[in-house]
Amino acid sequence: MYDLIVIGSGPAGYVAAERAGEAGKSVLLVEREEVLGGVCLNWGCVPTKTLLNCGKIYYAAAHGESFGVGGEVRFDFAAAMARKRKVVGQLGKGVAMLMKKAKVEVIRGAARIVAPGKVAVGQDVHQAGDILVCTGSRSARPPIPGADQAHVRDSRAILDLDQLPQRLAVVGGGVIGVEFASFFASVGVEVSVIEMLSEIAPGTDAEIARLLRTELAKKGITFHCGARVEEIAADAVRFTDAQGQSQSCAADTVLMATGRRPNVEDLGLEDVGVAIERGRIAIDAACRTNVPGIWAAGDCTGKVLLAHLASRQAECAVNNICGRADRMRYHAVPGVIYTAPEVASVGLTEAEAVERGRSVVAAKLPMSVSGRFLAEHDGRGLVKVVADKHSRMLLGVHLLGGHCSEMIYGACAMIESETRVDEIKEFIFPHPTVCEVIREAVLALRF
Ligand code: FAD
Repeated sequence: MYDLIVIGSGPAGYVAAERAGEAGKSVLLVEREEVLGGVCLNWGCVPTKTLLNCGKIYYAAAHGESFGVGGEVRFDFAAAMARKRKVVGQLGKGVAMLMKKAKVEVIRGAARIVAPGKVAVGQDVHQAGDILVCTGSRSARPPIPGADQAHVRDSRAILDLDQLPQRLAVVGGGVIGVEFASFFASVGVEVSVIEMLSEIAPGTDAEIARLLRTELAKKGITFHCGARVEEIAADAVRFTDAQGQSQSCAADTVLMATGRRPNVEDLGLEDVGVAIERGRIAIDAACRTNVPGIWAAGDCTGKVLLAHLASRQAECAVNNICGRADRMRYHAVPGVIYTAPEVASVGLTEAEAVERGRSVVAAKLPMSVSGRFLAEHDGRGLVKVVADKHSRMLLGVHLLGGHCSEMIYGACAMIESETRVDEIKEFIFPHPTVCEVIREAVLALRF
């Protein structure tokens, strides 16, 4: 009998297990894969960011004339993949160590809830006071003719390529699609992105999404927006373009980046009465399901499919399980696109704020107002801040340009702690840094 059984060892599951173990709970963590760490560590955040950085270093060196860098540069895909394996392996070992340190028992196998408080793994049934479901998500595959061919890969399978494609077609211009497109284009692959919506990076501020597309196009990526893929052939992807014309783009490799689906099947959830709404496990602000003693966190809840939110939900669930009241808030969850240039945002876009009936003031500035940005970057960048006219509270910050991923947390803290614009004006930012643009944009707000 355990205090808590956690199903799934991604950034929701292993963080939950660690926190509960540290709090003195007896914890069983069940993982069906050989490796710990879930999608994030093995097939998501970590491997993609490792490869993206290899690509950024290569691109900067190969196109560094204006920085006084030149000469013959070569990209070694095998070495980059070896680095990816090394980083993933090291972090995987780190998760195993954390579990040991927190005295969490880890077993391998597919878990199934057979009754409240009872989880079957193979022939064994384990019991616990509470169960936390952290089963994550998987790639969604729309039924496109030809999508089952060997050269058509999802975001997991493309991380196992043993050589670079010559021509890559990416179906889906969301975050995952554009990140892979950015990496492969940066190392010389001919990349096309086919997106059904009229713009890439849905959910991003419209002007920033447009600018991202423009900047990526300058690096050689061809975008087909408003296009519907009809068929994937052996050497091409055929689609209907925004004008209704049949088109095709040549591709020896195709990446299907068409969204993710929460893993809610084969877990026994319906049998024990756990409510599933639109394919996601329904939870309240404490991460409780409707069945007492069964909790859920991470991608399987379908809120915002990001690792940092998964971990925070896991902490929230564990705090409540341990009797420490905690609640989730979703208004200051940062989102980053690790392309080159990067995009980072938190809170409401101007359009969203207006849609919600807020009285809005907004300001935008080019990143080039920052001396540091100008010194270190050739491309364009943009900062936008959105505030509430009446409360003078910061509602959203949206950035495009180098360093964005590392500076957005400051804006998260300001929004989460309901900072007033007048207070931000009194904050001292270090100089020269790119983050000074946030303060400059705040100063540019006119109430
Ligand atoms: P997962 O990480 O999916 O882990 C769930 C675990 O549960 C898996 O290990 C699975 O094997 C296990 N499991 C499932 N069912 C069972 C069962 N029945 N029994 C036992 N075990 C089970 N997010 C970011 O925040 N930043 C990024 O840069 C980023 N990049 C990404 C890039 C890619 C290519 C992808 C695909 C995703 C990326 N994400 C990123 C999203 C991030 O990976 C997920 O939000 C995160 O992994 C969710 O964590 P989780 O713990 O909910 O689920």
